[in-house]
Amino acid sequence: MSVIGIDFGNESCYIAVAKAGGIETIANDYSLRGTPSCVAFSPKNRILGVAAKNQMVTNMKNTVFGFKRLLGRKFSDPFVQKELKHIPFKVEQRPDGGIGIKINYLGEDNVFSPEQITAMLFTKLKDIATTALQTQINDCVISVPSYFTNAERNALLDAAAIAGLNVLRLMNETTATALSYGIYKQDLPAPEEKPRNVVFVDFGHSSLQVSACAFNKGKLRVLATASDPQCGGRDIDMGLAEYFAQDFITRFKLDARKNQRAYLRLLQEIEKLKKQMSANSTRLPLNIECFMEERDVSGDMQRAQMEQICAETFTRVERTLRAILHNAKLRPEDIYSVEIVGGSTRIPAVKGLIEQVFGKHASTTLNQDEAVSRGCALQCAMLSPAVRVREFSVTDVQPYAVRLAWDAARGEDTDMEVFPAFHPAPFSKMLTFYRKEPFTVSAYYSDQVPYPDTFIGQWHIKDVQPTSEGESQKVKLKVRVNIHGIITVASASLVEKKQDASQTESIEMENANENAQNNQDAPMETNGSPQEQQQNGPETQEDNNDDKKDKSKEKPKKVLVKTIELPIDARTHGFSQQELNAYVEQEGKMQAQDRQEKERADARNALEEYVYELRGKLSEGEALHDFVAEDQRTRLVNQLDSLEQWLYDEGEDQNRQVYSDKLTELKTEGEPIKQRRLEFELRPGALDDFALAI
Ligand code: ATP
Ligand code: MG
Repeated sequence: MSVIGIDFGNESCYIAVAKAGGIETIANDYSLRGTPSCVAFSPKNRILGVAAKNQMVTNMKNTVFGFKRLLGRKFSDPFVQKELKHIPFKVEQRPDGGIGIKINYLGEDNVFSPEQITAMLFTKLKDIATTALQTQINDCVISVPSYFTNAERNALLDAAAIAGLNVLRLMNETTATALSYGIYKQDLPAPEEKPRNVVFVDFGHSSLQVSACAFNKGKLRVLATASDPQCGGRDIDMGLAEYFAQDFITRFKLDARKNQRAYLRLLQEIEKLKKQMSANSTRLPLNIECFMEERDVSGDMQRAQMEQICAETFTRVERTLRAILHNAKLRPEDIYSVEIVGGSTRIPAVKGLIEQVFGKHASTTLNQDEAVSRGCALQCAMLSPAVRVREFSVTDVQPYAVRLAWDAARGEDTDMEVFPAFHPAPFSKMLTFYRKEPFTVSAYYSDQVPYPDTFIGQWHIKDVQPTSEGESQKVKLKVRVNIHGIITVASASLVEKKQDASQTESIEMENANENAQNNQDAPMETNGSPQEQQQNGPETQEDNNDDKKDKSKEKPKKVLVKTIELPIDARTHGFSQQELNAYVEQEGKMQAQDRQEKERADARNALEEYVYELRGKLSEGEALHDFVAEDQRTRLVNQLDSLEQWLYDEGEDQNRQVYSDKLTELKTEGEPIKQRRLEFELRPGALDDFALAI
């Protein structure tokens, strides 16, 4: 079994595999390392990856891209509404407020969720990996932008589940990059020394992410992140498209914004021009043939001009670069190096800004396109027993402050901050409630989160009753940022003390464990079914980490407690198991349809190929011409001619069997002719053998 890492980018995906010898990037069916995040539909099948991107301009309404940005969001989200302005395919609101992508597939209108579309892409990636590695793929680590919230992370997990992938971790993109960096560095400071601080800048297609990490031998700790989800290479493309659209109106009286196909082609040409401008500061041409109204257009641009037109994007880049210094509380002189990844960091102006803000050259230690996927593959190997790699501890952060609110009992506040921004993750905290009846808690992101909806989840804790004396029960909630960066109430347990310590009605908070340090979602001390355990000393509001526990062991006072797991009704993001099952089934059917269509197309191609080959070889002067009687040859060539005609006519769209039957029939005539030729060729050799034998 292989373990893989997937960089799910807004524009393209990369897959890496961890092997005993190291990490390798896997090439796709077009021998390319990057697979476009593109899914298209036809009357016969789905078209995924490179093939989907190649037919985008001619099948615009049924080619879906940019869906990473739609995951986990509501249709009414202003962010989604803004996205829709640039999207040529149809998007509608679902009855539940979610996003429906409407396309024509198998000749019918179909509506798919962004999760389903993502699952289709994952199916393709899985297929690419399975073909390349010749083994079954299940376990994987998939990258996510560090700014993704619970809703988006859950949506991504659902997508992976639909594609039959087992996600060992959703890993923040910049953290995956940091792991790719750290694992090969032999000269990191010893654990007790001052760590080496490195900043990672990932400027991709649709967003900018920056992180600051502290490295010591064998471990990395993310200090903070800063990101701009609305600032990427595509914003430069759109800025330039706006410019050229204006230019073409003035000079050619053609308005590209009124023609989606023309606009899409303009964007594609601009992207090429933009890449050329990264390497070249002279004036460069832009030519598009048959652009609109069968007319050609042309224009030109220089790097300096691009920088002026896209000034706002660069201002945003600078702002985010400065934000990491603030968030991580670092001065430029505290930073060892600034490592860049992501396609858009190739833009000279971005490197210039890095130099300006951090006072050092942008460093390109890492493979700019593959670092994220390689980090994911490394992490996957560490989490899976299948492959052994060098251990490297990764402590991430949770980027937003998280608040927990509850229906207050007398004298309580009604909400509190459970995790401040940039709190280490994964991490658990235990909250103690005193309750006589079932109760509900809800989690929210603080208002700083750049999303309209701050809701994380609501958990109803059931089966809480007063004690036999009519008193409140002690209920412990484990609030957790899990290994995927998802915030959840992982468990609720009733703590029955044999000895009563008079408690006021309040809640208490303690840090449950620092399990981020060993990369494991380790169970909590009070987790599990009813159990007897020793409780050390009275509870406090202080951290209950291992150090303190050891010290408190010295205290002689021991109270016997019993914990009972309580049932929880959770309402969070993501599909129900029932919905997931239905989507898995639907995906399975579509895969079967794709397979069937592929077999059909292969059978047709095989027949077509045989027709051409045989006819070619039967013609005057060719290999088979003299190995068949003239009348049979004439009849056969006629038959081949009409077969060719048929293939482009009613034979265009038959089922597989029809083609393979015709091929078999044709071969009964063609093969004996080929055989005669073969025997003729072999005859001298055969005679020699014969001579030796006697
Ligand atoms: P994201 O990380 O935003 O989800 P992604 O990972 O798919 O997206 P990348 O592959 O890192 O994005 O980068 C793609 C972007 O980089 C595109 O906008 C592309 O135009 C841009 N890009 C690639 N090469 C160059 C270059 N030489 N100069 C300028 N821009 C480039
Ligand atoms: Mg990326």
